[in-house]
Amino acid sequence: MESARQWIYSLLFFIFTIATLHVLDTLIISTRLTTNYQNIKLKKHPHLPLRFRSDGTFKILQVADMHYGNGMVTRCRDVLESEFNYCTDLNTTHFLRKMIQIEKPDLIVFTGDNIFGTSATDAAESLFEVFAPAIESGIPWAAVLGNHDQESTMNREELMSFISLMDYSVSQTFPSTKVNSDSKEQQPMTNIDGFGNYNLEVWGAPGSYLSNSSILNLYFLDSGDRAIVHGVRTYNWIRESQLSWLRGVSKRFQGQWKYDDQSMDISPLPVMHPALAFFHIPIPEIRQGPIKDIVGTYREYVACSSINSGVLKTFISMGDVKAVFIGHDHTNDFCGNLEGIWFCYGGGFGYHGYGVAGWPRRARVIQGELGKGKEAWMGVGKIRTWKRLDDGVLTKFDEQVLWDIHSLR
Ligand SMILES: [Zn+2]
Repeated sequence: MESARQWIYSLLFFIFTIATLHVLDTLIISTRLTTNYQNIKLKKHPHLPLRFRSDGTFKILQVADMHYGNGMVTRCRDVLESEFNYCTDLNTTHFLRKMIQIEKPDLIVFTGDNIFGTSATDAAESLFEVFAPAIESGIPWAAVLGNHDQESTMNREELMSFISLMDYSVSQTFPSTKVNSDSKEQQPMTNIDGFGNYNLEVWGAPGSYLSNSSILNLYFLDSGDRAIVHGVRTYNWIRESQLSWLRGVSKRFQGQWKYDDQSMDISPLPVMHPALAFFHIPIPEIRQGPIKDIVGTYREYVACSSINSGVLKTFISMGDVKAVFIGHDHTNDFCGNLEGIWFCYGGGFGYHGYGVAGWPRRARVIQGELGKGKEAWMGVGKIRTWKRLDDGVLTKFDEQVLWDIHSLR
């Protein structure tokens, strides 16, 4: 009898021990040892390639100089006294959301000074906040750096790597090149000056003759930050290594530009597909001129490098770049023409960046429009631009055509 009781006690003790171990394992040990797959964060990729819509348009929203600091605790600069008390970085966020809503762009391009390093306590936090509206929208977005982005807790390479890993970002730290001529595999070209030099292709409209090739090429360049030349402080400039890469990319696209199908209702002349370029710091020719046909406000002295590295000459020799979009001088928002190529400022977008009180923050929109053949969409026929103000009703103004294929014939 006694031994039976002991046996029952032993059994109960055994069951109790197993149950205790199980509870411990479930509540404490397993949770620490096992990977929780729900918490793994993978980058959300946009649907690529970028391509024209079936209505024949491709729209880009250019956002220049957001100068984001720490969000709601970072105050606005150069706003009216009546606006000042309620104005923070969140006004910049709100403006971006409204621009995305009204324009529904196919790509958002941030042309530098995205964060204002000296006001951003933690660069990563500011990057998450500044690009949040783009990420929430799920629209592909691309960024280059300005001269202020690296003044916080990340250097330029870290910033670009971080930006390129963010959701829906199509930004790249380095351009990529084929491993060898017949390989599809790509590798980063790290032997090039700067961080954030890359190109993006925009393919033809779905179902069109050009749906499987790039018909609008977008070039992104790192124009650097500051430099000292002969003991004098100046802005940095686009280097020969970047220009030489650019010439190579442009040449590769030019190899694909002929319309092979002569039965289509298009010019029998081969037409080079146009390209657009984006970077932050203006080139010296914008200051020295003569820059012609100005549309918009030319309010401030063009702050560029004292070095002319031949960016304009390179674009002219390439032949495909029809318009260039820059930032940096917040109170200039004009487009002007230099030897057949348009240079357009975005105009200051961010409320923590300098501006002029009473002169609303603004953004630029760029739209590629396809030409129409007898039945189907063809290559790009027109490049148009306009701006909008953050004035409560997002006034649209200064609309102009930058390039029209018909004016070439
Ligand atoms: Zn700026």
